[in-house]
Amino acid sequence: MEIGAVSEKTEQPLSLHTIDSLEFARTGRLLKGVVKLAQLSRLADQLLDINGSLSMKLQGKHEAGRSLLHMQITGQLVVQCQRCLAGVSLPVQVDNVLQLIGAGEDWPDEELMDDQMDAIEADAALNVSDLIESEVLLALPPAPRHEDCELPLAAVNNHGSVAFSALAALKKH
Ligand SMILES: [Zn+2]
Repeated sequence: MEIGAVSEKTEQPLSLHTIDSLEFARTGRLLKGVVKLAQLSRLADQLLDINGSLSMKLQGKHEAGRSLLHMQITGQLVVQCQRCLAGVSLPVQVDNVLQLIGAGEDWPDEELMDDQMDAIEADAALNVSDLIESEVLLALPPAPRHEDCELPLAAVNNHGSVAFSALAALKKH
């Protein structure tokens, strides 16, 4: 993974692939960088254009006895409109706090957690790109569509085939 990692709090280069999540949170570390879409294979499978990248910022925090990771991801993705099958450009705006649960620690009651917080298992070798990918996949709408999708109905009527109109739509864009 080519995360261009920089640390604003220390001059030490951060590991580009994995972090010790509890240590990262406890010491309030910061990881910022850019991840190419082509390197996120599970996500790339769902995209019509994998030439872009996502910007990410991961901030470790320790608050009220809890170890937290604040993950922010921004960027633009091109997915397939489920109606006309052409590309839809979707902004990505992930802003989530993850609570790390260490070995032997109790998992918090889901219903008591606020909506912007999830719990994940603490990992001494947490793969940052996997985490980014999972967060973005969770944020994607299950059936993306153009806001005002114009399926070329005339093409459906003339040729009696939705597949044909979908092809036409793909060529048009
Ligand atoms: Zn559409």
